[in-house]
Amino acid sequence: MSAPDRPTIDSDSQAWWAAVQDHKLLVNTCRTCGQASLYVRPFCPHCWSEDVALTQASGRARLYTWSIVHRNAAPFDVRTPYVLAMVDLEEGPRLMTVVEDCTVENLCADLNLEVAFRTDEDGFVVPVFRPAGN
Ligand SMILES: [Zn+2]
Repeated sequence: MSAPDRPTIDSDSQAWWAAVQDHKLLVNTCRTCGQASLYVRPFCPHCWSEDVALTQASGRARLYTWSIVHRNAAPFDVRTPYVLAMVDLEEGPRLMTVVEDCTVENLCADLNLEVAFRTDEDGFVVPVFRPAGN
């Protein structure tokens, strides 16, 4: 990875980011209580079970909250303005991401979103969200 605005990928998140490169969004699913979570970790934050596995998410989400970032320090200034968002995945986890292809006037709480996979200039894929049906 060459771009400076890349995440730090550790041993817990490596499989998650590898799936994103294949245009798949995963959640950490607990085989004990059935709840899903993110970020990826080797246990369930709901019941502390270590019987967790990555499963594919539907990609559907609802907009929880957002902020429009007009200025940011390097290296995050290259994509301004952008919509920084917290979205609630259908499976339950809340994910920080960006919303693209949506006018500011159309942003609203509970907006139905779907995951999209943006391929950046260096070929790295990041999960973003767009209004559902676009
Ligand atoms: Zn659990």
